[in-house]
Amino acid sequence: MSISEVKISDILARWYLDHKRDLPWRKTKDPYAIWVSEIILQQTRVVQGIDYYHRFMNRFPDLQSLAEAKIEEVLKVWQGLGYYSRARNMHAAAWQMITDHGGVFPSTYQEMLKLKGIGPYTAAAVASIAFNEPRAVVDGNIHRVIARIFGLFEPPGQVPAKCGICRKAEALLDRAEPGIHNQAVMEFGALVCTPANPSCRSCPLQKHCTAFGKHLVEELPVRNKKTTQKHRYFHYFIVHSAEGILIRQRTGKDIWQHLFEFPLIETPRPVSPGRLMESTSWNQLFTDSRVKPFKVSKMIKHTLTHQVIHAKFYHLDAFPDNFALKSSFQEVPLAELGKLPVPKLIENYLEILID
Ligand code: SF4
Repeated sequence: MSISEVKISDILARWYLDHKRDLPWRKTKDPYAIWVSEIILQQTRVVQGIDYYHRFMNRFPDLQSLAEAKIEEVLKVWQGLGYYSRARNMHAAAWQMITDHGGVFPSTYQEMLKLKGIGPYTAAAVASIAFNEPRAVVDGNIHRVIARIFGLFEPPGQVPAKCGICRKAEALLDRAEPGIHNQAVMEFGALVCTPANPSCRSCPLQKHCTAFGKHLVEELPVRNKKTTQKHRYFHYFIVHSAEGILIRQRTGKDIWQHLFEFPLIETPRPVSPGRLMESTSWNQLFTDSRVKPFKVSKMIKHTLTHQVIHAKFYHLDAFPDNFALKSSFQEVPLAELGKLPVPKLIENYLEILID
C-alpha cells in the first residue's frame, strides 16, 4: 500500500464510523444474515431492502429453516424483488451447506465460492465482514468510487486478469479491518460518491480525488453500452369459474420460473383483442370460439432489467370447460391466490382488482 492508499483507506474508515447508517445486518457477524442482506441488496435499495431482510429473517432465521422450506414459500417472501433465480440459488445453497458442511456456513472465501449462486462479490463481502478475511469487494458502487479517486477509465465487468480496478481495490484494502473497509467504501459510494450529483464539495477525499482535480467526475466511471431491451406482449386470461381462477406454475428457462400466473398468450407485437380472438393461439386455448372477454385492461408496462413486458388482462366468464388446456391449470379460489408466489406484474394487477 502506498502512503496515499493508506491515507485514503484511513479517511474512508473514519468517515464510515462517523456516518454509517444504522442497518440491521450491521449489528451481526452471523454469516447467514450477512449473506441474506448482501443478496437482497444486489436487488434493491437499502430502504426497501430492510423490509425484505426482516421478512426473510423472520421466516427463515437460519440455514436449516431456509433449506427445509418449500421453494414456493421462499419465492413468496422474495416476491417483488425480481431475479427469482437468486432466491432459488439461496435455497439450493442452504441445502448444500446442510448436506456438505454439517449445517454450518463455510468460513472462507474459497469454500463460499463453491456454493450455488455465490460469486466473487458475495464471497468477498461475507468472508470479510463475518470472518475478517482480507478480500476486497468490487461491486458497482466500489467500481465507481475507485475509478473516480484514481482516474481509471475502465469499463465494469472486466475478467480478473484485466481488472485494474480490482487490483486497486486490493491495494486499497485495510488488511487488518477488511470488513469495515469494504463496508466503508460501499457506504461511501451509496451516500457521497453517488452515480449522479456526488457530494464533491463536502467530500473528505476531495484533495486525493483525481476525477475531482481533473474535472472528470462526469466522465467517470466508464459505463457499459446500454444493452437493448427486448419488448414482449403478454395477454393474460383471468378465467373465472365456480372453483376460482385458473393458474399454473411457470416452468422452462424463461423469466419467473416457478412463479404462478394466469393462462397466457404471448405475441411478438401488440395486437387488438379482436385480432387476438381470430388468431390460432386463441383457438388453441379455447375450445368454444364464442368465448369473449367481458373486460380487457389497458396495456400495463412492466420493466425488467433486459426486457419490457407489455401486458393486458382479459377477464372471461369462460368456464374452464371451454378451455382447451384446462388440465395443465389449477383452479384456485381468489383468497388463496395471495399465498402463492406470483410475478410483481400480477401482484400489482390483483391489488388493483381487489381495490
Ligand atoms: S471528490 Fe467527488 S468524485 Fe471524488 S471521491 Fe469525492 S465525491 Fe467522489
